[in-house]
Amino acid sequence: MSSCALVIDDSAAIREQVIRTLQDVGLFEQYREARDGMEGFKTLIECKADLVICDVEMPRMDGYKFLQLVASRPDLQGLPIIMLTGKMDFNSKIRGLDQGASDYLTKPFDAGELVARVKVQLKIKSLQDELKQANEQLKRLTNIDHLTGLFNRRYLAEVLEAEFFRAKRNRESLSLVIIDIDFFKQVNDTYGHQNGDVVLSSVAEVVQQQMRAYDSAARYGGEEFVLVFPGTALEGAVIAAERLRQAVIDHTFPHPLQDLTVTVSAGVATYPSTQVDNIDALFRRADEALYRAKQNGRNRVETMPV
Ligand code: GH3
Ligand code: MG
Ligand code: MG
Ligand code: MG
Repeated sequence: MSSCALVIDDSAAIREQVIRTLQDVGLFEQYREARDGMEGFKTLIECKADLVICDVEMPRMDGYKFLQLVASRPDLQGLPIIMLTGKMDFNSKIRGLDQGASDYLTKPFDAGELVARVKVQLKIKSLQDELKQANEQLKRLTNIDHLTGLFNRRYLAEVLEAEFFRAKRNRESLSLVIIDIDFFKQVNDTYGHQNGDVVLSSVAEVVQQQMRAYDSAARYGGEEFVLVFPGTALEGAVIAAERLRQAVIDHTFPHPLQDLTVTVSAGVATYPSTQVDNIDALFRRADEALYRAKQNGRNRVETMPV
């Protein structure tokens, strides 16, 4: 059920007639009235109506001006507006539709036709809302790695760009951690690729649990993850990486992996620091640090000298 209809007309009799007709079929919970375009616009902003029925000819501000005001507000796009026009006045109907009206009704109107046209508009609105939601969901999915539920590499690039820009502008630190699972090939060889996938998604879960609200985690490659820590200097990022390294060791995997202990190596780098003044350099330093962690025996967190 939709909640509010706004009826704008300079004639009190017409307003009453429209409202009574809609009330009879119980289409809305609430009805609001206004006598001209300006009053209508103010009421619309205040009550967030789901549908508007608006006269064309009114003193002070007419229906066309009202349509123009609505069109200037991005948050009101898609609002159904049914115009009430004089009999046989084709030009005003066309003009109204051109200016953003959803439909029109000729006065004096038939009650059944009013109800039918309102229902059509509500149906269109609800389909549009569904479509919008589906599009938003789709957009979210294009940012997500399907195996782990973490951000994917494509979206990581977007996040990093935005965070780097922000860090530079606000003169704040930004830290990047690259995590790589140690000897993951052995996990696949011993338990099979499917169980390897379970390990990957379990480690991703541990990663996600460790992240704070403003941090981001992405699956960067096969068994590599990248963490982005805005407003965090090297020391803080190393602490976070260490905590994560320990959490992975402590994690118990589901059957038949319950005896498996997985370790990760991590490389940490920070902007701004020696040799790091852009995103590529930040990545390169973190990757060098990861290489160092592998060289120094794995299951450890490393940084590069600053
Ligand atoms: P290191 O300690 O040097 O990192 O050794 P590693 O065995 O982890 O490294 P390597 O890069 O040699 O192997 C990574 C393995 O990850 C090889 C590849 O088959 C596996 N892998 C990559 N993506 C996936 C995936 O989506 N699922 C599974 N199960 N395995 C994957
Ligand atoms: Mg009028
Ligand atoms: Mg790797
Ligand atoms: Mg590895």
